[in-house]
Amino acid sequence: MSTYRQAPVVMARGEGCLLWDTEGRRYLDMTAGIAVCALGHGDPGLADAVATQARRLIHTSNLYYVETQLELAAALARRAFPGRIFFCNSGAEANEAALKLARRYQHVVRGQPERYELVAFHNSFHGRTFGALSVTGQEKYRQGFEPLLPGVHFVPFGDLAAVTAALSSRTAAVIIEPIQAEGGVLVPPPGFLRGLRAACDAAGALLIFDEVQTGVGRTGTFYAFERAEADGPVVPDIVTLAKGIAGGVPMGVALAREEVARAFEPGSHASTFGGNPLASAAALYIQRAIDERGLLARADSLGRHLTAGLSRLAAAHPERVAGVRGRGLLQGLALHEDAAPVVGRARERGVLLSVAGGRVLRFAPPLVVSDAQLDEALAQVADTLAASAAA
Ligand SMILES: *Cc1c(COP(=O)(O)O)cnc(C)c1O
Repeated sequence: MSTYRQAPVVMARGEGCLLWDTEGRRYLDMTAGIAVCALGHGDPGLADAVATQARRLIHTSNLYYVETQLELAAALARRAFPGRIFFCNSGAEANEAALKLARRYQHVVRGQPERYELVAFHNSFHGRTFGALSVTGQEKYRQGFEPLLPGVHFVPFGDLAAVTAALSSRTAAVIIEPIQAEGGVLVPPPGFLRGLRAACDAAGALLIFDEVQTGVGRTGTFYAFERAEADGPVVPDIVTLAKGIAGGVPMGVALAREEVARAFEPGSHASTFGGNPLASAAALYIQRAIDERGLLARADSLGRHLTAGLSRLAAAHPERVAGVRGRGLLQGLALHEDAAPVVGRARERGVLLSVAGGRVLRFAPPLVVSDAQLDEALAQVADTLAASAAA
């Protein structure tokens, strides 16, 4: 079905940050398959891990324990907080699990069934299933699908007074992206996430961080929440991951602290494919590669390089560029115009970018990108802007 407006290109193969289409044209990939291909394309180690696991065992269901899944769960919790993990297959499913868990925790563990409401943010994106869509604060995604879940209150991103006013004894949870990605790569104002944590605690509401896009090292720490504020982490009750988690093999994750996770019992929630041996082996390989190749520190330093380059570009084209935002390898160049035509012209010059929030050029390259590749992409974007200014 036509749910996408595809570019007239068929990709044939990839290597690192490069892709080639079926006509043999080469592209520098600053999208990483929408923040998915953490190790870029054609990584031999990831390919071997997937192939080896495929020969050994692809799928068994969760009626039995899965060795690689157990190891992966331990690794993901170790990087975050002690807790338990539910495995599924996408970001929407991970958020669906988080929302259901929050409701069930309030109902079953705390004995407050009236606490079913959710607080979410304008401009947010949490996925396309009915639950995830119900907390997505963008009209274009919701249009034609209503009525959605009742009891969802939307407040402006970064407005602590509005959040506090929306919280009540009926609130189950607040769900937020620590950096709004699809909405236009928006970083909340300093102190907001820390204030949000305190407001949730005061109101008895759970705090859910949707790190589907910001997680898996993209912002320079494994979870973006580790550096939520200048003075340190802001720790949620539930965090969700997907996109980069298994380097392109579908997987979603909802990690909750122990007391919250107890609300799910055998039968409460499930996923046939969730955390299967194949996806878990791929994700486990990503875990090891991140440490062995020092990809967190790399995303951090490359991110600074990217910020500097984007800032120079912004200074050179003040009539086109409104600003630079983001962190690590998730950054946006906000334009005064629609970003889609610029993305199209950049692609014709061999650089792949994507649009976030209509007017923002999103840079989310593989974590293995080099300084030189970032420079090449920036130079092509500069030429694209200059050429269309002249035209
Ligand atoms: C992409 C995204 C989702 C949805 O993930 P899918 O795997 O497409 O379901 C949810 N939340 C955020 C923050 C995302 O960027």
